[in-house]
Amino acid sequence: MPITPIGFITSPFKQKFAIPRQPNLAKAKGHITLTEQFNDIRVFKGLEGFSHVWVLFQFHKNSDKGWKPTVKAPRLGGNETLGVFASRSTHRPNGIGMSVLKRGGYYKHNGLVQLEVEGLDLLDGTPILDIKPYLPYADICESATDKLDDYAPIPNRQVVISEQARASLTKASMTHSDLETLIVSVLQQDPRPAYKHKLDDDPKEYRVMLYAYDIYFYVQQGTLVVTQLKAV
Ligand code: SAM
Repeated sequence: MPITPIGFITSPFKQKFAIPRQPNLAKAKGHITLTEQFNDIRVFKGLEGFSHVWVLFQFHKNSDKGWKPTVKAPRLGGNETLGVFASRSTHRPNGIGMSVLKRGGYYKHNGLVQLEVEGLDLLDGTPILDIKPYLPYADICESATDKLDDYAPIPNRQVVISEQARASLTKASMTHSDLETLIVSVLQQDPRPAYKHKLDDDPKEYRVMLYAYDIYFYVQQGTLVVTQLKAV
């Protein structure tokens, strides 16, 4: 069953740490560039009729790790396990990921067809296997439930940018106008390991890489404080 990537994502997430667990949790924008074999703008004819797309992709940075019947559930603190098919773990047979993303424009750039997408939870360079329109009449499940979300909801913490970081952020925003929104929406979810979430004061300095910037933060009285932003 040969599978050929139809494209590759360009994403602000250059490392796995702090990538949201699911799409649309952070305002992360990027684009899919089609490979030469599929580089024909007609593949998107009619896509403007759909606000969102399903994107299927390969967890290519996990491919060497194989799979196990059960996986550790990071949202449950990392000790409890779930069946691989009861999880959205990246360690799964065939290593296929799927995300519903907001559709942006499509166009040719330097001769290559690109599709803008928003709400990413994909690492930069992820191979894209397929793109399909999201169909609300079929894909919305009104009666859907998620007991895990009731038990361990995604954190929504306050984020503060320090004065020192603010100066660098203002400069960096000239190149990436969405950078502050991205930083705040990523950090609100508290990217620290789940077992640290109970620590409202955590002086350890953490580093998140977004675009070509290292963003440093620690946690004080439940608020994530951005201390520095450095161009890499
Ligand atoms: N929404 C998708 C799904 O349900 O199949 C992905 C969910 S998975 C839990 C999301 C995580 O996958 C991200 O937080 C990131 O750490 C990881 N990830 C994203 N792109 C990846 C890649 N190309 N290779 C390995 N891991 C990746």
